[in-house]
Amino acid sequence: MTQTPQLRPSSGIRVAEFIANVGEGNKFSKIELFDAVPGVSQADRRMRDLREMGWVIDNYKMNPTLKPDEYLLKKIGTRIHEGQPRPKSVRRSVTGPKRRRILERDGHTCQVCGVRAGMDYPGEPGRKAVLTIGHIIPNSRGGSDDESNLRAECTRCGDQARDITMDPPSAASIFTRAQHVGGLKEKKRLYGWMAAGHRTLDDTEAVFNDWARLPRAQRLEVMNQLGQQVITEME
Ligand SMILES: [Zn+2]
Repeated sequence: MTQTPQLRPSSGIRVAEFIANVGEGNKFSKIELFDAVPGVSQADRRMRDLREMGWVIDNYKMNPTLKPDEYLLKKIGTRIHEGQPRPKSVRRSVTGPKRRRILERDGHTCQVCGVRAGMDYPGEPGRKAVLTIGHIIPNSRGGSDDESNLRAECTRCGDQARDITMDPPSAASIFTRAQHVGGLKEKKRLYGWMAAGHRTLDDTEAVFNDWARLPRAQRLEVMNQLGQQVITEME
């Protein structure tokens, strides 16, 4: 069998094949998945695709008996690794002008955690945030590809967000939590986001994001100027 890149199965098919071989009712770890599918940096994403095609794969958030890097295959869905066609409802990621419009609208900022494209992920220095377009309500739950149902998500939140939407929180629990966010100012901020339909930047964040786009020397200059002012005001 030839191994030319053009003839290699897609990463989605390779991930499906690996997980199907694990067998229903069995566990596998993230490490095993990466080992079994060399070069697949987006294994998580492919797993999400599988979930949208009826594969039931539990993680530790859904099943407390699992460790954080463990998964449990409960049910095999569409057998794309055996040539079964993908369901029509499973769309490829959003591209082209639509993608650009959404990124522009959302300020090139992840609407879940607020990280900006190209900046380091919080807590992971050196790992630059990459944004994708995600569905607020997944296709599998009846969500559309309308721009109102799409948002910018970093690849880190995209994975988590999809896991969370597998078992969505109730409206009542969200309202309870919304009532307990710290202080009137924060509540007004949250309401503003809800009214806008997406996360908007407050002044501090907007200044920081613009600062982060300056060349390094200018960043240091502004940082030191502000630092001086902070020290002066503290004295
Ligand atoms: Zn994010």
